[in-house]
Amino acid sequence: MSECLFCKIVAKEVPADIVLEAGRALAFRDINPQAPTHVLVVPKAHHDNAAALAAADDGLADDLLKACHAVAVQEGVAETGYRIVLNTGEGAGQTVFHVHAHVLGGRGLTWPPG
Ligand code: IMP
Repeated sequence: MSECLFCKIVAKEVPADIVLEAGRALAFRDINPQAPTHVLVVPKAHHDNAAALAAADDGLADDLLKACHAVAVQEGVAETGYRIVLNTGEGAGQTVFHVHAHVLGGRGLTWPPG
């Protein structure tokens, strides 16, 4: 069995507040939200990070991006603006090594991020 937390969420072995299941992608609410809308979007297949996802070259990154936008529409933040974040590597703050896009919205988002 995989030891990956997000693989376990995909397999429904660990509970999560799932907001969207779209083909090869799954979206669920972040357990420690940083904005009124804070949803994580993951490919169901395990890839450690964005670089590995891009290298997979099978359209999965495209699916992930489309699922992010679908979440933003569903959450009602597509019109006001939202941010998609892919922390890639420990130096960028990645703590879970199953690639995931943060979809953040519902408040003003400053730039640059911390
Ligand atoms: P990272 O720092 O970009 O790797 O983001 C990992 C995110 O996963 C953090 O925002 C955590 O709050 C979130 N997280 C960790 N465990 C869970 C969980 O069990 N359910 C939902 N979100 C989680």
